[in-house]
Amino acid sequence: MTQTPPPIRVRAEIDLAALRANVRSLRARAPRAALMAVVKSDGYGHGALPCARAALEAGATWIGTATPQEALALRAAGIQGRIMCWLWTPGDPWREGVEADLDMSVSALWALTEVTAAARAAGRPARIQLKADTGLGRNGCQPADWPELVAAALAAEAEGVVKVTGLWSHFACADEPGHPSIAHQLTAFREMVAYAEKEGVDPEVRHLANSPAALTLPEAHFDLVRTGVAMYGVSPSPELGTSEELGLRPVMTLAASVALVKRVPAGHGVSYGHHYITEDETTLALIPVGYGDGIPRHASGRGPVLVGGRRYSAAGRIAMDQFIVDLGGQKIDEGAEALLFGPGTRGEPTAEDWAQAADTIAYEIVTRIGKRVPRVYLDG
Ligand SMILES: *Cc1c(COP(=O)(O)O)cnc(C)c1O
Repeated sequence: MTQTPPPIRVRAEIDLAALRANVRSLRARAPRAALMAVVKSDGYGHGALPCARAALEAGATWIGTATPQEALALRAAGIQGRIMCWLWTPGDPWREGVEADLDMSVSALWALTEVTAAARAAGRPARIQLKADTGLGRNGCQPADWPELVAAALAAEAEGVVKVTGLWSHFACADEPGHPSIAHQLTAFREMVAYAEKEGVDPEVRHLANSPAALTLPEAHFDLVRTGVAMYGVSPSPELGTSEELGLRPVMTLAASVALVKRVPAGHGVSYGHHYITEDETTLALIPVGYGDGIPRHASGRGPVLVGGRRYSAAGRIAMDQFIVDLGGQKIDEGAEALLFGPGTRGEPTAEDWAQAADTIAYEIVTRIGKRVPRVYLDG
């Protein structure tokens, strides 16, 4: 076990043993599918490289990112095996992607044109995965345009410049069990895959499931599940239950040190706008983190924190660098630990609690924890 470092302003402890346990647990729930560890946006704020390594150690066989830059950085850092990325923009580094052996998603003809040009320039075939829009209405190829894209991909494959390694799509509402779009998307996916295979595409993997589908929809597992948030031990949505109810171990703990403790009289305003006024003489504690660190200002007056074994809510506005809790009668010294969120095993709030306080999803809470917060990797 790595030693917890001495108290500092704030740190995000990243428990890689918990991440590995989550990967093993997700693999057990999708036993016939390979697992892609999604580490986009710096591993949802946890650090893409250490999380990718830990996930591969625990049996993930694919790494997934949004942008090619994220994927190329992982390859350059020594991550081997399959790395897929799906958010391409015209002019992106397709040739570097070919040379780095990325699996590159193609949703439209413009992308196929760019990737085939890159493959010809590189003198080797590109691995591409055709993405179908089965109903999300975001990236992916519409059913009406699918025959043209499939035909163009097959022609490029016949020329030897691409290999179609996958057919895939993404859910809109997998976090709302029973939502009618889920069945519609499954049907559309099966049809679009069947069409492409009938035309001659022979993919290695067909895949549709994100974390909520990996957890709740075995019929959507196909050959591969792409798990992000659940791997970090965070529940995809309150409807699916808490991370604890889902048997997941939260990977990130956000710990700060109390920077100042002081007595103030009754009727004292607290923080910008004076949205909190002390009722009685009381003790205030300054927690030295704020929205500059990714703590949502929208959780002002509500964001929970554990100090001295008790739960408090942010008193008044959360500022860029700090917020206040009203300790009432509790005696705390400067330097005491303030836990904003973690697994909850010490009574601290979870990222899901912060999501509720900020009226957002827990994905956003962990992903937004900023660069000013050092990550400390623990490996129990
Ligand atoms: C982010 C993302 C995922 C992972 O989603 P989670 O809900 O975090 O598991 C999977 N597939 C695609 C295309 C994504 O963009």
